[in-house]
Amino acid sequence: MINKSYKKMLEGKSIIRELSEYATARGKEIGYENVFDYSLGNPSVPCPTGYTDAVVKMYQDKDPMAVHGYSPSLGIEEVRAAVAESISKRFGVPYEAKHIFMAIGAAGALAHAFRLVTEPGDEIIVFAPFFPEYTEYIGRTGAVMKVVPPRTEDFQINFEEFQHIINEKTMAVLINTPNNPSGIVYSEETIKQLADVLYAKQEEYGHDIFLISDEPYREIVFDGKQCPYPAKYYDNTLTCYSFSKSLSLPGERIGYVAVNPKATDADILAVIMGQISRGIGHNCPASTSQLAVSQVLDETSDLSVYETNMNIIYDALVEMGFEVVRPGGTFYIFPKALEDDANAFCMKAKKYDLILVPADNFGCPGYFRMAYCIDTEKVERSIEVFKRFVREEYG
Ligand code: PLP
Repeated sequence: MINKSYKKMLEGKSIIRELSEYATARGKEIGYENVFDYSLGNPSVPCPTGYTDAVVKMYQDKDPMAVHGYSPSLGIEEVRAAVAESISKRFGVPYEAKHIFMAIGAAGALAHAFRLVTEPGDEIIVFAPFFPEYTEYIGRTGAVMKVVPPRTEDFQINFEEFQHIINEKTMAVLINTPNNPSGIVYSEETIKQLADVLYAKQEEYGHDIFLISDEPYREIVFDGKQCPYPAKYYDNTLTCYSFSKSLSLPGERIGYVAVNPKATDADILAVIMGQISRGIGHNCPASTSQLAVSQVLDETSDLSVYETNMNIIYDALVEMGFEVVRPGGTFYIFPKALEDDANAFCMKAKKYDLILVPADNFGCPGYFRMAYCIDTEKVERSIEVFKRFVREEYG
């Protein structure tokens, strides 16, 4: 017998992946340069040369036994120390190597964080709009995902609804800033208010509530700003990071969980995550990826193209009359569709080879997401097509 619940997942396959596969197939028919594919959040700029150099040097100069051996279950010690030093310096939180757990991307980091702080039946609160894979990431742990509806005027946290939803069964709250899909960066005020609520609720319920902060887009921020670092404001924070986006390395599958040194049982949380790995087989990220990223921890790819693209698209959407909040980071924008049914809207756009993702399973029906990690030249060409689509379908 095949596991029923996993088999059932075939009925709800990722809409993002489906649209991306459609765009690739369509590209084979008409040339991919003619498909305006805004579906997938795959970085469009190369990783820094420092990363490639580190890889080449490592393969040429290092002992193959060290480079290709199993890594320790919590990650390579010198890599953990380097990560701790880098983020301590950048964010002013005094991490040590023992607080860092190396993981397979943000997906792997989250898989460990959820299991670390919940038992089946416990609740994890998520704020809409959210990355749709959260539904499966959380659902498969046995924990229950509770969704706080969006505050669509600015996509900051809807505190009124949050206060209604948080309860004694809440063991964790998951945030993602800068946010996929809205592109919004939570303000310092939002993070502080969130911390205040969580401290008060810990007191009231008499148990820890962990803040799980999913931060793969931390470095992709616009207007020369910085993203407030949530762990600075709340002690029980598990920061889940990935090098997929900032260093354009999604295929290398590398990231980490950073345990706030002031969290409850901070000294043993990484060790316990090593045990979780044994249970889920999501263990020992590639030694080569760990060693290479540790050489470029304070670098990023040239991320400027995302801001350029955002400005072009945002201005064009406003000009066309869309309701849209200007993103503060990431490579996503999240406008309101021109009809209530965003699926119908995106289907119509598809006829123009404009691939947009409807947001029903991002917890925000009526909206759509554009991933603008594509060449600026293509973004510019897509605007004319977008205008024609809007004129002909909704004019
Ligand atoms: N969290 C968010 C918000 C994402 O957008 C993604 C990927 O797009 C992930 C987690 C998973 O990232 P990774 O590729 O590092 O596993």
